[in-house]
Amino acid sequence: MHVRFASKGFRLFAVGAALVIVAIYFVHSSLITASEDAVERSARYDVAWVGAGGRLEAAKLQMALASYISTKDPQAAAQVALYTEILVNRFGIYEAPAFRAFLNAKPGRERILDRAEGEFLKARPQLLDVESLADGDLAELTQRLAGVLSAVDRVGAEAHTESVEAAELYRQEVRRQQQLQRWLTTGLFVLIATVVGVVALQNRFLDRAHRQAKRNAVDFAHLARHDALTGLPNRMAFNETFERLIAEQSVCPDRGLAIFAIDLDGFKSINDTLGHAVGDLLLRAVAERLERRTSSLSNTLIAARLGGDEFVVVLDAAVGEDEVLSQAQRLLADVCLPYRSSDTTLMLGATIGVALSSSGSDAKDLLVDADLALSLAKAHGKGTVLRFDPNIRDTYERRSRLESDMRDALVAGDIRPNYQPKVDILTGRVIGLEALARWSHPALGMVSPCEFIPIAESSSVIVELGRTILETACRDALNLPEEIGISVNLSVNQFLRDDIVETVRRTLQATGLPPQRLTLEVTESLMISDAGSAVDTLVRLKALGVSISLDDFGTGYSALSYLRSFDWDEIKIDRSFVMELETDRRARAIVRLITSMAGELGIHVTAEGVETNGQIDALSRAGCQTGQGYFYGKPMPLEDLAAAILNSFDASQPESNGSVREPIAS
Ligand code: C2E
Ligand code: CA
Ligand code: CA
Repeated sequence: MHVRFASKGFRLFAVGAALVIVAIYFVHSSLITASEDAVERSARYDVAWVGAGGRLEAAKLQMALASYISTKDPQAAAQVALYTEILVNRFGIYEAPAFRAFLNAKPGRERILDRAEGEFLKARPQLLDVESLADGDLAELTQRLAGVLSAVDRVGAEAHTESVEAAELYRQEVRRQQQLQRWLTTGLFVLIATVVGVVALQNRFLDRAHRQAKRNAVDFAHLARHDALTGLPNRMAFNETFERLIAEQSVCPDRGLAIFAIDLDGFKSINDTLGHAVGDLLLRAVAERLERRTSSLSNTLIAARLGGDEFVVVLDAAVGEDEVLSQAQRLLADVCLPYRSSDTTLMLGATIGVALSSSGSDAKDLLVDADLALSLAKAHGKGTVLRFDPNIRDTYERRSRLESDMRDALVAGDIRPNYQPKVDILTGRVIGLEALARWSHPALGMVSPCEFIPIAESSSVIVELGRTILETACRDALNLPEEIGISVNLSVNQFLRDDIVETVRRTLQATGLPPQRLTLEVTESLMISDAGSAVDTLVRLKALGVSISLDDFGTGYSALSYLRSFDWDEIKIDRSFVMELETDRRARAIVRLITSMAGELGIHVTAEGVETNGQIDALSRAGCQTGQGYFYGKPMPLEDLAAAILNSFDASQPESNGSVREPIAS
């Protein structure tokens, strides 16, 4: 703005100055012309002198003649002759061009003088020899000479006056022009001073504008390269630095790089429940800790925020792989420390994927590798540091493939339940079946539910998958003896994403399976986020007439309050306890305790993962009623079930060998 104003002003001044300079040039050149004129006109002073000289000489001649007449002195006669010759000479001078010009300036003037000259020349012989003249001749000569001398005097007087007047006029004109020139010169100096001032001012403006522009550029560069919330370098700055580091590494391959891809656990839910202001504060606090830790490490190359709750650190890996991993652990520990404010304390977890460049590997893939390690670590429980290895990429690629193939697999019927028997430990009879999903992938073969259920849970596919398994299990159950119950697993996300009560109600209605034949297995993780609404849903499910089972009991927090908060129909003791029943006294004690407590509460107990006779002994001694595991039978397709179940009925007949521990399927 200032600059624009200044430069406009400067332009006006420049135009003004140029005009004045042009004007001065014209005035000056007119002065030069005037002085040339002056030289020429100075010749008129000669005219004045010539005129004046003539007058003087004429007067002297007149005086000498008068003196001779009265004295008759021969000396006076010589004076007359001298002044006569001088005057003759004067007439010669009158012929000079300058004087002629003066004579021509006025009509008649030249004629008067020429006539006077003629008269004078005629009188000349007598004037040169006055001693020979008689008094009468002298009187006549004096008279004739008077006319000549009066003409000379008149012309001389005019020459004098005119020259002096012209000189005066000319002087005035020159004075006027000099005055004008003085004004113009003063104006020019003022103008030059102003222009210099304006230039200086404009320079100052320009200087200031330049400095401001420079500052703006610096500010802009900083803003463009830094995250406004945390002040850490942003994605753009990170990309630049990372590209430079990669370029350096390609020149000097011995220099290893390490990348930490950091993601906060559960940040989204903090943002959702406590609001974005708290989320922002938390991000700033995390960034501060990150900054403090990384700047204390001598090998940090850059720590940046890529967006959201994603951070990244690049380090020089020359310190060695173990040290780098321990640095990641220390960073994780820092981030996971409680965040205290005046009124609250928040806990926040984080997960770090680590990738180290090794010779031969492409440094450009490092970030992707660290991200893969991070994704995998997050999928497998979070809160950890996971170092990338090539298997992870395979795992990730496999996971991506399963993810993209899953919907089609459901439509094609490639994902179907297998059934694992639940057996009465005392009688050996199959009393129920657990539906366990199986994916027979056309290219990858059998895929475990441990692998594809978490993938399904990360999207809405879990709803479709859950409904498919539930419906198939209900229909399949209708083909089995009435006393055989059917258990179906429900995942937490299915619970959260689907209107599960409505789905179960409709499925029962659509298939016609009596509700009392259906058991829904849930895990305690259901109770963790919102126990109140989970219990409410369970109550409504139970109201449909189905049974509810608490799966994997003993693995998580297993708070006894979960047992109190809902009227469970069944507890399934996790395989990890069953496995140790024969070897670990404490496992036996825990199983005994759970069984007796459940008995008190009227809850049925099933032990999972039963594989040996010894385990069955221990379980029956502990009072556990039902067992499920490879000892009784692996999960199998519906087609194989009938025989297995029949076998079990056979095995439980009293007239058979009485053993209740025969495996019912191989
Ligand atoms: P889970 O509900 O605890 O299922 C029991 C798992 O233990 C099954 O693994 C079963 O094959 C395995 N198992 C049973 N007896 C033995 C034994 O004697 N020894 C050993 N080593 N393992 C035994 P599976 O079929 O791989 O299923 C794993 C998990 O996947 C299930 O654990 C369940 O949480 C989940 N899952 C399976 N099908 C479904 C489903 O349809 N929906 C949902 N939401 N989850 C499912
Ligand atoms: Ca289960
Ligand atoms: Ca289980």
